[in-house]
Amino acid sequence: MTTRPTIVWFRNDLRITDQPALIAAAERGPVVPVFIWAPEEEAPWEPGGASRWWLHHSLESLQQQLESCGARLILRQGESLATLQQLIEETDADAVMWCRRYEPVVIRRDKQIKTQLADSGVHVESFNGSLLHEPWTIETKQEDPYTVFTPFWKRCLAAETDREPGKGFRKIAGPDTWPESTPLKQLGLLPKIRWDRAFYDEWDVGAPAAEKRLRRFLKERLKDYKEDRNRIDIEGYSKLSPHLHFGEISPRQIWQATQEAMDGKNELHKGGDHFLSEVGWREFAHHLLFHFPHTTEQPLREKFEDFPWSTSRKRLQAWQRGQTGYPIVDAAMRGLWTTGFMANRARMVVASFLTKDLLIPWQEGARWFWDTLVDADLANNTLGWQWTAGCGADAAPYFRIFNPTSQASKFDPQGDFIRRWVPELSKLDGNDLYEPWNADEDTLRQANVALDNDYPDRLVDHSEARNAALEAYEEIKG
Ligand SMILES: Cc1cc2nc3c(=O)[nH]c(=O)nc-3n(C[C@H](O)[C@H](O)[C@H](O)COP(=O)(O)OP(=O)(O)OC[C@H]3O[C@@H](n4cnc5c(N)ncnc54)[C@H](O)[C@@H]3O)c2cc1C
Repeated sequence: MTTRPTIVWFRNDLRITDQPALIAAAERGPVVPVFIWAPEEEAPWEPGGASRWWLHHSLESLQQQLESCGARLILRQGESLATLQQLIEETDADAVMWCRRYEPVVIRRDKQIKTQLADSGVHVESFNGSLLHEPWTIETKQEDPYTVFTPFWKRCLAAETDREPGKGFRKIAGPDTWPESTPLKQLGLLPKIRWDRAFYDEWDVGAPAAEKRLRRFLKERLKDYKEDRNRIDIEGYSKLSPHLHFGEISPRQIWQATQEAMDGKNELHKGGDHFLSEVGWREFAHHLLFHFPHTTEQPLREKFEDFPWSTSRKRLQAWQRGQTGYPIVDAAMRGLWTTGFMANRARMVVASFLTKDLLIPWQEGARWFWDTLVDADLANNTLGWQWTAGCGADAAPYFRIFNPTSQASKFDPQGDFIRRWVPELSKLDGNDLYEPWNADEDTLRQANVALDNDYPDRLVDHSEARNAALEAYEEIKG
């Protein structure tokens, strides 16, 4: 044990259970937990509006968790290296520890910080706090990175790794005197214009809420997860993604809790194994981001660089605002704006619509999601957009163009989701609700819908748009 404190630099690991940097620091002696707000260091992917909202509440929760153990969270704003150096001086700390992140610019920054601090005689250590398998530990027989999910996940499942979560804390020793902390409010993470009101009904932020959500999901949803995860109208999935992104819960905790839930219950294996394989897609996304860092901006499949994209701002804005005239697309986009979330199936439908029906570059969609999703995550978002656009790893073949009508009738079979978010169509039923442009005039009149007035007429005709997309693809197919 040392009497000099260790700084634990919290980042996307906002929990005190299974937090390897905190565990290692506490084993050395007193701990100074720190969070530094330096968004410009993550440019061009500084946290978006919805992420900032989540971060504010997650930091508030972490403060409470640490205080319940007799510790504090020191908040600071400013350049990370200079702030850490300043804190080392103020607290006489002789070590700094953190959990690793995998975004290209963050890796670069962290390497520099590690070198600079180590050169000045500070002990620096980083840990794996957010993945089951770090990207460089999984490779093909030819020692290459994987670009196809199934063999990647098989390899992960066979790999030797410690999936046991680390401990939690009741007491954390602190320094004799605590350094000053910037008030959370002063970080300015909450929006000035209050678009976030519905977020408060939708979300409970922080590690205790994440654990509760996991337990409830395992108890109530795991059995039918494989089928229900695709539904847009019911919550058949875990909604753990923002908690995972901010590290309020670790994949090790999820792994262990899911295994325990399945233990001795054969009927849960189908859902449980599938759920864990989705956590595997998250691992795969991080693997790809680490090995192909340019893919946040450029397609993995290079020929897509020459794709004849449209530059129409009008089309992009109609999509962003949920005004495309396709009810399932509009419902999902409006729901995203209001709640900060969208079900995976709906993400695929709206992303296919933007990139294939409207021919807008996937990067535009990725940017909008980045700002509006509470779970915006550079690895998962990049993979999701490139996969749907057909230009990424293990991507959907380009000719797989989602038909918004059949997707809606299959995954929102009663139309409840559409009615919730597109109330102007709520009196329509069946196919008229999915395709109001095909409804006869009497039906529309009785439902109080004047197309192009109460609700937009469709921006494009899906079958014509589909043909145009396939023709555009022919141009680059080679
Ligand atoms: C266009 C597009 C953009 C996306 N952007 C993001 C994003 O910014 N952040 C994000 O976390 N996910 C993103 N995804 C993946 C996926 O839609 C979400 O992770 C999932 O919907 C979150 O809901 P859940 O927590 O209920 O998932 P569950 O079905 O309960 O799955 C459990 C966990 O597994 C992971 N996961 C599930 N599906 C995927 C997937 N396809 N790819 C990677 N990880 C997955 C998530 O961490 C999720 O929390 C995107 C998908 C698409 C098609």
